[in-house]
Amino acid sequence: MSLKAVETGAKPMDEVERQGRIDLAAMFRIAVRYNWHEGIANHFSLAISDDGKRFLMNPQGRHWSRIRASNLLVLDADGAADVIGQGAGKADPTAWHIHSKIHAGNPKARCVLHTHMFYATTLACLKDYRLQMIDQNATRFYNRIAYDENFNGMALDDGEGRRIGGTVEKDKSVLFMANHGVAVVAGNVAQAFDENYYLERACKVQVLALSTGQPLHVLSDEVAAKTCEQWQREFSTDAAQDHFNEMKAILDRHEPDYKD
Ligand SMILES: [Zn+2]
Repeated sequence: MSLKAVETGAKPMDEVERQGRIDLAAMFRIAVRYNWHEGIANHFSLAISDDGKRFLMNPQGRHWSRIRASNLLVLDADGAADVIGQGAGKADPTAWHIHSKIHAGNPKARCVLHTHMFYATTLACLKDYRLQMIDQNATRFYNRIAYDENFNGMALDDGEGRRIGGTVEKDKSVLFMANHGVAVVAGNVAQAFDENYYLERACKVQVLALSTGQPLHVLSDEVAAKTCEQWQREFSTDAAQDHFNEMKAILDRHEPDYKD
């Protein structure tokens, strides 16, 4: 189905939704290329209304390598887990509870990426799972990570979703979920992709450093804070967009059907 011909409810699809579908579909394909995916499980979402409550999300049961823009569901964070616009299938219950609560409570949380990507999840399984400021990539996340220490089974009810969503509201961009995985929250898909990329790289370095059995050489708070500020100033919006655009150019060449 061509996106140009699709309608959402009674209204033609607006430009925000049309572009959002393409960007989020690209994000799924990119996640497969980096092996951040878990087959048909895990979920990404993107707010398409100003209040953040209307959002796109992947349908349950579709492998990320096959997700197309037109497959994405339109959901309303104030409603039930019903699809309110064009899409293919229904929402995964855990995805609904986590993403609807994050979007409903935080309009700035435009794009939410939840994965069990290997190195971040490996850290989340350790008793001390804080991201240590031991390399330049890690400093990007200095004081920007929230830690949820209370894994309580799958998020199959509103309470669990609200608890997880509440943790993200504390002005953080990353949520480490103990014994589970991570969520990255950003202002758009490009920023979320770039954050997710550097987060997994930083986690990989920490896991590898720990595997040597030698003590970590942790940076001072002063240097970590300064380097984080440099990240924000020099490598924020434009660099993230460039990075994402390059990945989309690779998709355009090898698997352009993500845009359909
Ligand atoms: Zn999960």
